[in-house]
Amino acid sequence: MTSTVYDAIVIGAGSVGMPAALRLAEKGLKVLCLDQFASPGQGSNKCALGGIRATHSAPAKIKLCLDSLEVFSRWEQDYGYNIEWHQGGYAFVAYRPEDAALLKELLVVQKRAGLNIDWLGPDQLLRVCPGLREAGLLGGTFSPEDGSASPMRSNLAFQQRAVELGVAFRFNERVTSIMRRKGKVVGVRTDKGGFATGCVINAAGPWARSVAQLGGLDAPVAPDCHEGGITEPVAPFLEPMVVDIRPAPGSANFYFYQHRPGQVIFCYTPNPAIVGSDRRETSAYLPLIARRMVDLMPKLGNLKVRRTWRGLYPMTPDGSPIVGRSPELEGYIDAIGMCGQGYMLGPGVGALVARVATGELRDGDEAILQELSPARVFGGAEALT
Ligand SMILES: Cc1cc2nc3c(=O)[nH]c(=O)nc-3n(C[C@H](O)[C@H](O)[C@H](O)COP(=O)(O)OP(=O)(O)OC[C@H]3O[C@@H](n4cnc5c(N)ncnc54)[C@H](O)[C@@H]3O)c2cc1C
Repeated sequence: MTSTVYDAIVIGAGSVGMPAALRLAEKGLKVLCLDQFASPGQGSNKCALGGIRATHSAPAKIKLCLDSLEVFSRWEQDYGYNIEWHQGGYAFVAYRPEDAALLKELLVVQKRAGLNIDWLGPDQLLRVCPGLREAGLLGGTFSPEDGSASPMRSNLAFQQRAVELGVAFRFNERVTSIMRRKGKVVGVRTDKGGFATGCVINAAGPWARSVAQLGGLDAPVAPDCHEGGITEPVAPFLEPMVVDIRPAPGSANFYFYQHRPGQVIFCYTPNPAIVGSDRRETSAYLPLIARRMVDLMPKLGNLKVRRTWRGLYPMTPDGSPIVGRSPELEGYIDAIGMCGQGYMLGPGVGALVARVATGELRDGDEAILQELSPARVFGGAEALT
């Protein structure tokens, strides 16, 4: 093993690991961030659409994403790096009474958690999302402070700041073992060497389970496949992310928004889920989602699609992340299982991980950590996946 000693080693330079490394360094720790791929964000991070919302049903996710929104929305003015942040809001549309009822029920929790969100009737919603199909529209929720940004740009922006703060990065280097002695972490071994540390953060996304196993632990995180697509850029015509939670054959819901440079970016949740780690895109995806999108907003039929891709959600049994210290191995911290929201959760989770590692918890952290505990019983289910 090399003689290099770090205060903390972050495994994964993705949506979560990158902001975690940055926040740990901000607290004065000597940090190493390792990734198996050749450059930052090449796991699930680069596959994300870029949607950032605090409109969830689980209180911990709401609070963490409010923290993330603060970071994304201020990044350019604080650090001068354009991450293509746009505060267009999120609109969940309802065409069925059961969807309207669910969205209205969630409003109670969301308002209690301090979110700026309201129910809009059909006319008001059409003003926010012009071009939606009017027939049958019952209304929807609108949260104007949510938004979007570029996952690759923000990952690189966070890396730039992390380097300024002294974080060491090693790419093309796979962690092969988490070393332990007498129930404590003492280092990590990679395919190229080894490093001593008393603190390891597992931020390995869809690969989190195999990384946990490298330390003799386990984690209920399984990859499942989701595809995305992007059109040519066109003049601005749509502000919010539009989410339709109606199921249809092959998909549980779908969503799209117009990115700040003009492209429409879109995705659906496959139903049934496609469990596995095959990242090759399919020919089934585009015909299915194109039909759904054009049905909801007919003018989208004029757009040309540039490309589609497939990436992995790091899924947990209850749809919520797993964050916190391991009860079995001292010095090991989970920041895993982000499901379909790891990009938006990243900065909030990264900051929480740094507070956990340094023992500087703030008001409200204990409740979040309890909700996301690695030792919890995985029983409930997130309503807005
Ligand atoms: C089509 C699609 C659309 C999405 N849209 C959104 C969205 O709009 N908003 C949103 O918030 N989320 C979205 N997501 C989800 C989001 O991409 C993920 O939740 C998020 O990227 C997970 O972040 P992570 O840091 O946990 O994992 P990753 O970003 O994958 O980072 C994990 C890193 O760990 C590294 N690693 C793993 N094992 C090892 C090892 N043994 N040694 C070294 N390195 C290792 C990997 O190489 C990887 O870079 C979307 C996902 C997909 C597929």
